[in-house]
Amino acid sequence: MGPARDARAHGEVWGAGMTCLGCQRCETGPMVTLISGQQVCNYCPDWRVECEARHVASMETLRERREYLQHVHQKRGSEAYLEIAGLVKQIWDRRSDA
Ligand SMILES: [Zn+2]
Repeated sequence: MGPARDARAHGEVWGAGMTCLGCQRCETGPMVTLISGQQVCNYCPDWRVECEARHVASMETLRERREYLQHVHQKRGSEAYLEIAGLVKQIWDRRSDA
């Protein structure tokens, strides 16, 4: 076990890494920028949700998007549904600005 691994285990910022603002991990891996402008690591739960929202936003028809979100609502509850639906809307709003 080297010093880098020790630092990592203790959750300190080390090397050129950043501390993820989402899950509070230290990261030297790729950072991603969320639609909110927040930078997080690419295994953050926040990023996972946003990936899913981007996937939904990229669906071709409204029907597909509705079905997907309905499925999320049924399987994962209204909290997950609102989170993803809210992000999908943000992605769409961002797109129409461009
Ligand atoms: Zn993270």
